[in-house]
Amino acid sequence: MRRRIIVGNWKMNKNYWQALPLIESLLGYTEPRDLKGVEVVIAPAYPFLHYAYQSTKDTKVSVAAQDISAHESGAYTGEVSADMIRSTGVQMVIIGHSERRRYHGEDAQALSKKIDLALANRMEVIYCIGETLEERRGAAQFKVAKKQLMDALHQLTRDQMQRVCIAYEPVWAIGTGETATAEQAQEMHGYIRQVIADRFGPKTAACIPLLYGGSLKPENAVALCTQPDVDGGLVGGAALEVARFIAVIEALLH
Ligand code: PEP
Repeated sequence: MRRRIIVGNWKMNKNYWQALPLIESLLGYTEPRDLKGVEVVIAPAYPFLHYAYQSTKDTKVSVAAQDISAHESGAYTGEVSADMIRSTGVQMVIIGHSERRRYHGEDAQALSKKIDLALANRMEVIYCIGETLEERRGAAQFKVAKKQLMDALHQLTRDQMQRVCIAYEPVWAIGTGETATAEQAQEMHGYIRQVIADRFGPKTAACIPLLYGGSLKPENAVALCTQPDVDGGLVGGAALEVARFIAVIEALLH
């Protein structure tokens, strides 16, 4: 059976004093419960990664970074390396989020370097892909997904690929309240799995978790997360309020 994963991407939200109670309340929910194998992950901002890792160690919640540098080390002011993140204990990282691509000009070359560095530092990668509204209107979503997948992942071995999850996040659905329909999500996830199978083989493709992201919330989580090729979600806005995040987690417990 494939892993099922819910990741809360906090983006640039929550200061230290807000992060603390959010983590505490989430643990209050997860620890006494049988999560039926569903993995719960939070991705706070860099300054709180170490704290978040320490306070969730040996619990059912794990921690991911929101990004890493494309450079190994050196004179790159403001950058945070894979090795630095890994040394805090954190073992997972989001790479290629559309906000990084859009506001920081991250291209295929930078993203494949980041993926290589994350894997070399024994981290798992949540690699984000997704088309813009213009691309969807031009029916280019499949072409875009294939290119984003292959540009960044073609160099990986099958073993390395098994440490990658894909998050399909249509850009037009991120933070907009617009959501892909369950049919659109399944169609894209099925296609993504096929692209992975063509490159890495059907066995590898069958075990890669594919997460849906884009205005995922309590109201639509059951419909989206119960699609056959949807193995969980990457949640932005709804991860900032513990009750809403829990409601999304519960959708996976169905
Ligand atoms: C995201 O940032 O990955 C995301 C999906 O955001 P939201 O849920 O707010 O659309």
